[in-house]
Amino acid sequence: MTKYLSILGSTGSIGRQTLEVVEQMEQIRVVALTAGTNVERMAEQCRKFRPELAVMATEDAARQLENELCGENIRVLFGMDGLIAAAAYEKADTVVTAVVGMVGLRPTLAAIQKKKRIALANKETLVCAGELVMQAAREYGAEIIPVDSEHSAIFQCLMGCGDRREVRRLLLTCSGGPFYGKTPAELQGVTKADALRHPNWKMGHKITIDCATLMNKGLEVIEAMRLYDLPLSQVEVLIHRQSIIHSLVEFRDGAVMAQLGVPDMRVPIRLALTYPYRAENPAAPLDLLTCGALTFDQPDETAFPCLTLAKQAAELGGNVCAAMNGANEVAVAKYLADEIGFYDVPRLVRQAMESVPFVKTPDLNEILEADRLARAAVERFA
Ligand code: NDP
Ligand code: MG
Repeated sequence: MTKYLSILGSTGSIGRQTLEVVEQMEQIRVVALTAGTNVERMAEQCRKFRPELAVMATEDAARQLENELCGENIRVLFGMDGLIAAAAYEKADTVVTAVVGMVGLRPTLAAIQKKKRIALANKETLVCAGELVMQAAREYGAEIIPVDSEHSAIFQCLMGCGDRREVRRLLLTCSGGPFYGKTPAELQGVTKADALRHPNWKMGHKITIDCATLMNKGLEVIEAMRLYDLPLSQVEVLIHRQSIIHSLVEFRDGAVMAQLGVPDMRVPIRLALTYPYRAENPAAPLDLLTCGALTFDQPDETAFPCLTLAKQAAELGGNVCAAMNGANEVAVAKYLADEIGFYDVPRLVRQAMESVPFVKTPDLNEILEADRLARAAVERFA
């Protein structure tokens, strides 16, 4: 049966890899694509994949795209309304959420309300408003299939597990990032260029910095809690430098399930599109005879306080995760712009978290407000 895809963030790392998977499969058609401001790449994708709708973040970029696509039968929209239109696009049955940041929240909710399958890469959405998103998915009967490699691994380990009470804990593996083993003193002066050199994965800049600070793993702990409805005490982080074991589930009877594979995001992307089936992957599979030794270690939360901050936000709940995430997005943008140092990121996140008034059971507006206040706080404290 043909599948109809809308890809939010098609010009990014996950978006482009999704299109590579689409090219390898016959029965997928792309109906909507969205991007930020990269007009050139979007125009290229439009000519190749012929969506019915293309969306840019700004009006200016949308006008440029229209000029590029002059004469083609592709509707062009822009801004949040455009993003929501792509998420809720009538013909799409599956929406890949591959935009970066909290900007993905409202489109994700819009797609859920239209009962689309969500192939979810945009973890910030679940971090900010996981309870609302999961509640809406249950209410509308929309499937959420994780694309994040760790969460896809857990999803696969849980196939056939009928009762969540059988799960003792989730073990989220973490490569440790480019700065594994470094002391706080050594980390003081690390540059953006050092941080962007991830050992195992090639990804967008924001998530690559999150991997260097270990905030990515903190966000993933919260993502796992929301996806699998488990408390913080049942989600643990395990350093595994090789990124071969993508995560594990320990069950009540002591059995431990793991999912292994070469580090390649196209594997979880493909599964999120084809589930409950598995499609042929043309790439070479994992070779256990040559992949080397698999090692494990504990994360160093003294050197990487972002992980601790995310766990604190998870423990406090309410609107704190949204505040933490919003603060981190701004702090990372500042680090990428060479405006602040490595340890300013956790400092600013902590200060912003402390400055946003606590709301125990926030609605969508209160979540958006916590995000806004946290962003403003980072600007103040930077
Ligand atoms: P990229 O930065 O590579 O891509 C982001 C995409 O979002 C681009 O298409 C970009 O457009 C678009 N975009 C950026 N800002 C806006 C905005 N304000 N409005 C609308 N669109 C916007 O990110 P990644 O692909 O690396 O990551 C995407 C998401 O997936 C993140 O949440 C990340 O945490 C998650 N993820 C990524 C993994 C990876 O391997 N990359 C692994 C697991 C999860 P443009 O190109 O025009 O700027
Ligand atoms: Mg991940």
